[in-house]
Amino acid sequence: MRASAGNFSLVRLQQAVEVAHRIGKKIFLTINAYVKPHDFAALDHYLDQLAPLAIDGYIVSDPGVLSRIKNRDPQREIHLSTQANTINAAACQFWLQQGVQRVNLARELDLADIAAIRSETEIELEVFVHGAMCVAYSGRCLLSTALTARSANEGACAQPCRWNYHLVEEKRPEQQFPIEEDEHGSYIMNSRDLCLLEQLPQLINSGVNSLKIEGRMKTLYYVAAVTRVYRAAIDGYLADPHNYQCDPLWREELDKVSHRPYATDFLPVGDAAVHAQDSSYIRTYDFIGIVRELVDNNLARIEGRNRFFVGDSIEIIGPQMWQVTFTVPACVDKNDQPLEVIQPNAQVWMVLPDGAQVGDMLRRSKL
Ligand code: SF4
Repeated sequence: MRASAGNFSLVRLQQAVEVAHRIGKKIFLTINAYVKPHDFAALDHYLDQLAPLAIDGYIVSDPGVLSRIKNRDPQREIHLSTQANTINAAACQFWLQQGVQRVNLARELDLADIAAIRSETEIELEVFVHGAMCVAYSGRCLLSTALTARSANEGACAQPCRWNYHLVEEKRPEQQFPIEEDEHGSYIMNSRDLCLLEQLPQLINSGVNSLKIEGRMKTLYYVAAVTRVYRAAIDGYLADPHNYQCDPLWREELDKVSHRPYATDFLPVGDAAVHAQDSSYIRTYDFIGIVRELVDNNLARIEGRNRFFVGDSIEIIGPQMWQVTFTVPACVDKNDQPLEVIQPNAQVWMVLPDGAQVGDMLRRSKL
């Protein structure tokens, strides 16, 4: 999925590191492909270019990549990606001896497995709590390579697991038999999205050190909306574990971002994990703008992301689950000319509700 992303140049990466560190966050760079012999020269060159940057560490899968990083950039923290399929404590101990600080466990593990691993290793453990899943073991899958010559390992998966398949008898290739589970057809390998919001207390008590949200090719709105929900839930539980309750608002928020139907586990690959109806996303809200500048009296410069209109009922969301529904007031462009329609990429000025901050996001219901 990452191959067609607008990936970071070295300059942009350094800028991102500076921004992240200024606000007390870390940046780990993912190099979790399995690398073929002819790619090592490019990998070495890339690592040499990365070495002067102040990234906090690497996320890798391939032991060859791990060893190259240890040679060329030995001080850097190293995390093991879920792509490495770590499913037991012995493997965790092995990676610890190789200099890995944190292991992102395979999604196939259940809570008892995670707790068992925790009891037998001191390495930092991380688990996925939210986002897309593969039906293949932690994405180790050749389906896309076989059907489209696009390698999932190299970040270019065409997601053929989500296509609609038919049965064809050898001597009648023109005749396709639907293998229907219902009127939509049969999406036999189409995994649901993971959502462990309601299992957070058990996960925290299992002793994991880090919770990971999948976000390949997602918008900054998706990242913000999902992360703030899990932040609120984690903070709420840690502040008062005995009286903690999963707030229904949190789940509503997760339903408002673009997602496939949610599931709480990966295995067994049956009704719980596979969504048979279709492979499209459920999308009930559009991300329509972001607050770029705020001056006196809540007057804000908004950067449009999707078309919206003066008079629309919209929501603004910010950190700590802050959100307000309001009606789009009169807007003007940079020349002070009134606008009725705000187009994508437009820069417009409008008055926002009290409490708005730079970076807050605007969204509108599609229903
Ligand atoms: S084809 Fe599907 S299962 Fe295989 S890597 Fe791509 S998304 Fe995952």
